[in-house]
Amino acid sequence: MKSKKLFDRAKKIIPGGVNSPVRAFNSVGGTPVYIVRGSGPKITTSEGIDLVDYCGSWGPMILGHARKEVVKAIRATAAEGTSFGTNTPREVEMAEFLCNQIPYLDMVRLVNSGTEAVMTALRLARGFTKKRKIVKFAGCYHGHTDSMLVSAGSGLLTGGISSSAGVSMETAAETFVIQYNDTNAVTEVFRKHGKDIAAIIVEPVAGNMGLVQAAPGFLQGLRSITAKNKSLLIFDEVITGFRFGPTTYGRLIGITPDLTCLGKIIGGGMPIGAIGGRADIMRMLAPLGPVYQAGTLSGNPVAVAAGLATLRLLKKEKPYKTLAQKGRQLSEGITGAARNAGIRMNCPALGSMFTPFFCNGPVNNLADAKKADTKAYAAFFHGMLKNNIYLPPAQFELGFISSAHTSQDIRDFIEKAGKVLEDMRKTYEK
Ligand SMILES: *Cc1c(COP(=O)(O)O)cnc(C)c1O
Repeated sequence: MKSKKLFDRAKKIIPGGVNSPVRAFNSVGGTPVYIVRGSGPKITTSEGIDLVDYCGSWGPMILGHARKEVVKAIRATAAEGTSFGTNTPREVEMAEFLCNQIPYLDMVRLVNSGTEAVMTALRLARGFTKKRKIVKFAGCYHGHTDSMLVSAGSGLLTGGISSSAGVSMETAAETFVIQYNDTNAVTEVFRKHGKDIAAIIVEPVAGNMGLVQAAPGFLQGLRSITAKNKSLLIFDEVITGFRFGPTTYGRLIGITPDLTCLGKIIGGGMPIGAIGGRADIMRMLAPLGPVYQAGTLSGNPVAVAAGLATLRLLKKEKPYKTLAQKGRQLSEGITGAARNAGIRMNCPALGSMFTPFFCNGPVNNLADAKKADTKAYAAFFHGMLKNNIYLPPAQFELGFISSAHTSQDIRDFIEKAGKVLEDMRKTYEK
């Protein structure tokens, strides 16, 4: 069945034809692909075309698709029943594994998605501190819970405004939105509102405006100002957890947040999320404490089995150095190709993550990222797709390399990118 036909059918009965908006290809145009299977670095479309995948399901597939040990764990677990709605031995193993690998997690609770992890973290922060306001950064994505669907209001010191219909003004106004890496603005907001701020939530490496790294001192500054004001620091590590080492990014850089949100990789491609942190805060969760949280499918045996298999492989195989080398190779390769073609582009990479921004760098926050030419990205995306390479279908996202991608895959990517960028020269030359 052709993708176009499937999409036409889907549009009649699924809003926009998709179960998550970016899949509709609105920012790059054209018909979205339908994938029937994947193996290693490749995915196969419903037309039977093999694509080398640099989207990786938006992050979880760090070991590539259908990794045999993970599939085996899923099969074996599913054969014994897929959900019991009560406790299973494996969830204890998972919680112990997470707390061992991330020593500053005293306790964890499993949920079903990154969004749920964030929702719970924010409620916990409010319950624990008995304060109401949250600080977030423009361009950081924390899932689709109401209080995070907010953009900056008219002034720094006023609350945010809703960025989605259906989110009330009152909810949006409880969240302050600050530019990433703007330590002065954080200081200013805390000077005025510190006594009302329950938490700062941040992606310690930002991935949802494309790749943006924290400036030196930025995360440390957030740690000190929250501690000083009796607010909590929440690291949203849904993308970065187990991405750069078999632990969190916070652990690797030596900054200890009060709460950590996990997702994506820890489910090995199955739906999962986790929230963990200091015992005195985590003990506020029901049934121990007054902050309510629950989930019919939480700690789902199949999801936990897939996650544990993935995490154990990552701990054993430590693909991180090789992933980082491939990331650098890809980034340097396509930056050179863009220079040769006379096209404005900079491609930051960190570990297995990269973003070709079609603008001059560096990109330090959302305002910088917005300078990117999204039409140029769309042309690049479709050019690469014609060459059987699948990138995330939007400029402000991350590309992902998996441990299943070979150096030859990366060389092939660079060579094809060179041709595509050359073809773009006429329209996009700077
Ligand atoms: C993907 C993501 C989420 C949301 O996770 P879902 O599983 O899609 O709900 C939250 N925070 C960050 C940083 C993410 O990248």
